[in-house]
Amino acid sequence: MIQATRHAEMEAVDVLLELWQKRGLSMPEVSERFSRCKLYVTCEPCIMCAAALSILGINEVCYGCANEKFGGCGSILSLHSSSFEPSTSDGGRVSQGKGFRSTGGIMASEAIKLLQCFYEQGNPNGMRFIGFICSTYLISASQL
Ligand SMILES: [Zn+2]
Repeated sequence: MIQATRHAEMEAVDVLLELWQKRGLSMPEVSERFSRCKLYVTCEPCIMCAAALSILGINEVCYGCANEKFGGCGSILSLHSSSFEPSTSDGGRVSQGKGFRSTGGIMASEAIKLLQCFYEQGNPNGMRFIGFICSTYLISASQL
């Protein structure tokens, strides 16, 4: 079940993991498949999603509009860059991401309109969810 409150990137990853689990793929096979995936999202992945995608080793992320508050592919942090070295606030180490290619600004004005439409129609109370990023996704891979 797809939930509107979950980030699109995590929905996409869950769809793939479920598919590959049903096929009985091993962890190295799953990792290899992620390395061939391209993810298309409406909005730049947030910091959390960009870090997760980097750790998973996804090949490429293409997005429409920038996420100027929480973007992890250049707007706030550049977690897509394999040279980015994450650490915890106490200086501890976290899993090193593999990095991925990132291309933004694809049909950016259309992406912004899509998100505006979602917020206007998706919330009957007219409230704005500050910090909530809605994004749609499309996965492309040579052999899922
Ligand atoms: Zn996210």
